[in-house]
Amino acid sequence: MKPITDLIPILEDFHKIIITTHASPDADALGSSLGLLHFLKARGHEVQVITPTDYPNFISWLPGNDQVLQFNSADDDLILEMIQSCALIFCLDFSGLKRIKGLADAVASSPALKAMIDHHLDPEDFDDYRLWDTSAAATAELIYDFILSVDGKKAITADIANCLYAGIMTDTGSFKHGNTTSKVHRTVAELIDLGANVNQVSRSIYDTNTINRLRFIGFSLLEKLIVDQKKNIAYFSISEKDIQQFDLEKGDTEGLVNYALSIKGIVMATIIKEGSGEVKLSFRSTGDFAVNKFASNHFEGGGHKNASGGISYLSLEDTVEKFELVTLDFKEKYGSTQI
Ligand code: 5GP
Ligand code: MN
Repeated sequence: MKPITDLIPILEDFHKIIITTHASPDADALGSSLGLLHFLKARGHEVQVITPTDYPNFISWLPGNDQVLQFNSADDDLILEMIQSCALIFCLDFSGLKRIKGLADAVASSPALKAMIDHHLDPEDFDDYRLWDTSAAATAELIYDFILSVDGKKAITADIANCLYAGIMTDTGSFKHGNTTSKVHRTVAELIDLGANVNQVSRSIYDTNTINRLRFIGFSLLEKLIVDQKKNIAYFSISEKDIQQFDLEKGDTEGLVNYALSIKGIVMATIIKEGSGEVKLSFRSTGDFAVNKFASNHFEGGGHKNASGGISYLSLEDTVEKFELVTLDFKEKYGSTQI
């Protein structure tokens, strides 16, 4: 595996390029993919963005969304054929093939070269070129650096600026998380100068609530929130019935976990959410508490130190029971006992 700088001088040799990203893409995953798509298309490449699954409506306004193919749809045969016949695959915002679900085997077996651009820990060794930096707040920040190193600032159009701004804004929790460095602020300052529309991006992502979603948040806070002041954790367990009752759409539970983390003294907040055949867990923490290690040790997951996710194939009730058990020594194992 070589650094991405080795790819730059030969980039134009690759005509057909696929860009893919993790399942249930968020604004960083999709924004990075579409930002890179616009850039590569302008340089004359034939580019296709492929996502392993669908994604929420609040990111489907991103410029270029109409050029995305989603796996697990009528296009599956075409997608698999494209993956086999392209020359280069950009793998964005993930570092383990498990995260691209049904696309994993196709990407692994494709003769195409692979370039990973990512900021998650513990990358697997499936790529040929790599731009990987866990100190980057968002993959979109790395895409910005990549575009600059290939063609300079002049290559960043307003569409690219909006896509990358969306990724950085969301992965930093609107410039509030600990990953918000001065470099992040310098990068977004440049993106604003290059055409990112701060208000439009923010409103499109955060201010498109349905009444159902707001009522669901109210219901969850009132009926579902468990706070354990001894362990300093707070969590919600959400059943499929709850989701149906409020007629929730994909992405509607996102952000709920932050209410639990906002309680004074809480160091880890969790959503345990029942899906079809699996239970998905989302973890958030403050300070020292390494929820990525917690997620990988107990729930086949990973992510970042303060924001991670995992999965369980037990029932919702059994998953909650397991969560209660494995958090008994949470503080000693994954952070500090000094709160
Ligand atoms: P979220 O809770 O928003 O779904 O995910 C938070 C962070 O954890 C994201 O950076 C995401 O990439 C990572 N993450 C979420 N689910 C998983 C998972 O099942 N496995 C791994 N390795 N990372 C995950
Ligand atoms: Mn990201």
